[in-house]
Amino acid sequence: VADFKDGKWHEPTIVPYGDMLMSPAMLSLHYGQAVFEGMKAFWTSDKNINIFRPARHAQRFNRSLNRMCMPEVPEEMFVQSLHALIELDKDWIPTSEGSSFYIRPFMFAYEARLGVKVADHFKFIIINSPVAAYQAKPYRLKVEDHYVRTAEGGTGFAKCAGNYGGAFYPTQIAREEGFDQILWTDHKEHKYIDEVGMMNVMFVINGTLVTPQLNTAILDGITRDTILTLAKDMGMKIEERRVSIDEIEAGLKSGAVTEAFGTGTAAVVAPIALINIKGQDLAVPEAGPSSFQLRVKEKLNNIRMGKEADTHQWNYIIP
Ligand code: PMP
Repeated sequence: VADFKDGKWHEPTIVPYGDMLMSPAMLSLHYGQAVFEGMKAFWTSDKNINIFRPARHAQRFNRSLNRMCMPEVPEEMFVQSLHALIELDKDWIPTSEGSSFYIRPFMFAYEARLGVKVADHFKFIIINSPVAAYQAKPYRLKVEDHYVRTAEGGTGFAKCAGNYGGAFYPTQIAREEGFDQILWTDHKEHKYIDEVGMMNVMFVINGTLVTPQLNTAILDGITRDTILTLAKDMGMKIEERRVSIDEIEAGLKSGAVTEAFGTGTAAVVAPIALINIKGQDLAVPEAGPSSFQLRVKEKLNNIRMGKEADTHQWNYIIP
């Protein structure tokens, strides 16, 4: 826990997990200044702790904080706080294959006041939890052509709490219709694909890895960046560009789209089984052992476990 107060950061402390005091007038409850990260730590095969890409998470956290008019957490403070806490919590990191330690850094306006204003007092907190291996059952997605998660120029690229609160209602409707998640599209025409809301989305089209280019409505997923980098290493052709719903519809019908999957910290790679486009359920071919998504997932897993060279310096090792 660390406080930003009187214009500066105060020394972080580690306290036992438990309830905390807050005022009913705490500004984040009313005006939404709340930002978070989701990341993971693992045991490597030679029994070291590995926190995956903490610097990159710190950088994204700060981009989110800037968008929400909140003070940055210095990268060094972010990484050192993680280091100290994870080292102390090491007995909670699961050792079984596939399981991991989920890390949730977050920050919110703590000040109590009724007027609409940017807070002066913030709390930065990190909590953790062991998580079991993620059973990525193939997703059934519905292309959303009415609601938007966020709009260009909005807060979609920031990992702020309100983006998720606003997505609950349309997602609930999609669930009632028998889908797992929404495939969000651009706010102007509902014509181009943004992301899945908890994951970025990728396609293999005629052997090329294709993913929507980043804009201010899409979260800059760290798994997205990791997979794109590994795909380059594997000699795969990559295109980051606008991807239209019409292209995916035609590609699923003709067989040009051979893979569709989501990427995110929780699942790493989550296969997509079906995409509902304009009311039609279009099946995505099942990912076989030689599919790109399974090969890249294994490669990433090997890097994180220390079984393959970490050539991009993604692993933060605590011996
Ligand atoms: N988009 C959204 C909206 C998300 O919440 C997440 C999960 N953080 C992702 C994409 C995937 O990002 P990452 O790979 O950094 O987990």
